[in-house]
Amino acid sequence: MTGPLLSKSRFLAGLQCPLRLWYSCYEQELASEPTPAQQALFDTGHQVGELARDRYPGGVLIEEDHLHQEDALRSTRGALKSSRVPGIYEGAFTFDGVLIRADILGSVGDGAWNLVEVKSGTGVKEYNLYDVAIQYHVLSGLGFELKQAGILNLNKEYVYDGRKLDLEALFKFTDLKEEVLELREEVAAKIRNLKAMLGQTTPPAKDPSRHCRNPYDCDFYDHCTKNMPVHWVLELSGIREDRLGQLAAMGIADIRDIPDSFPLSALQIRIMECVINETDYVGPELKSSLTEYEYPIHFLDFETIAPAIPRYANTRPYQMLPFQWSDHVLSKDDTLTHNEYLCHEDRDPRERVAQTLLEALGDRGSICTYGNYEKRVISELADHLPHYRDRLQALLSRCHDLLVKIRRDYYHPEFHGSFSIKNVLPVLVPSMSYENLPIQEGGQAGVEYLRMIAPDTPSDEKERIRRDLLDYCRQDTLAMVRIREEILKRCRG
Ligand code: SF4
Repeated sequence: MTGPLLSKSRFLAGLQCPLRLWYSCYEQELASEPTPAQQALFDTGHQVGELARDRYPGGVLIEEDHLHQEDALRSTRGALKSSRVPGIYEGAFTFDGVLIRADILGSVGDGAWNLVEVKSGTGVKEYNLYDVAIQYHVLSGLGFELKQAGILNLNKEYVYDGRKLDLEALFKFTDLKEEVLELREEVAAKIRNLKAMLGQTTPPAKDPSRHCRNPYDCDFYDHCTKNMPVHWVLELSGIREDRLGQLAAMGIADIRDIPDSFPLSALQIRIMECVINETDYVGPELKSSLTEYEYPIHFLDFETIAPAIPRYANTRPYQMLPFQWSDHVLSKDDTLTHNEYLCHEDRDPRERVAQTLLEALGDRGSICTYGNYEKRVISELADHLPHYRDRLQALLSRCHDLLVKIRRDYYHPEFHGSFSIKNVLPVLVPSMSYENLPIQEGGQAGVEYLRMIAPDTPSDEKERIRRDLLDYCRQDTLAMVRIREEILKRCRG
């Protein structure tokens, strides 16, 4: 039986997991829809890809999409007929049962070419080598002479001057031809194996595990894990790959079936005991660590964007830009008040964020955060704004990380191994959850913020997004207040 054509993305899916490739070819309908944050990542990839073409001007764009590959192959052949074409964008090529779309193929004269794979990240990852290697396999198989074959990344050191993007400096190219040549036999063998697998009449057996999230989130994850036990062994925080392999070899998927003699870390044993005894764990230090705050206690959360392509002067690719904060303030007499700020305009929000934040936080009281992110945001603000530097840096010593305290001294079996605030909140405070909020996580907040400040968004839509953003960020800080309150009750209990 002849299998379907492999594409670059299918080949990469097959390297991650043969079952993923099988599903991609034969049962794509089992895939989950991308989340708003994943969709935003795809969109960023497209934006960066389009901008990268301007660094190699004059090329011919092959416009046909992946649903019209035959037409794309024909257009590419047509474009190649001209000996003067300086480059081809999204060129379609097929060889050895593999079809690729090359981001940029630039002519370097004398019939030779440079292959450029555009990646929106800021560094070459080891698994990116296969992106280039599969294209090298196809193009060299078709007889192309490739002088260079590599990856074009964003340069994280580049600082935008606010006037015109300097594409030479914004991007940096890494030639990987030597590394790719070393992979030639391996790639050819992998293609053979994957094609043989696709020629079988049944899907390959593969249990979900860590590989489902590495190097990419698999879009069949919900399908593959739908029949997993309620307390799956992957809930054991930080469990090593080899331990998972040992458990799989013993046929154990449920935490409750793990023998006492199986080596686990202290945290993993705690999780296992909570699951087996159906009870939560309250560490001896928890109460004192949750009451060591100085009043008034500020519960602080930021929302940020990190545009891949710098948007404002004096910013780099992926520079973290806080555009919103929420601060619930708990006084010693248990009074709770709330402050917030949200930038409404398409401008660098950092100055106003810092100014309003310093006013709200004053110089007294602890600052409670959930994770280390808020400290990073404050540190970066201090680096960027010398006139506020000392006052911003003074905030850092007032910060307390609630997540660290909970992770160290509290566990509930319904956490299912995750200490994310979105997960912890409905377990401890069932009356509160993120489910009914239009914005449910930080990535989505960033996407919505950019929509709110876009000039073509209608004003009523802007107003709706503004309210949704305020509701979301406020929920994050109120969640911290209620989580701390609830855990303290449990300490007393
Ligand atoms: S969820 Fe995991 S096991 Fe299932 S197809 Fe994806 S990578 Fe493979």
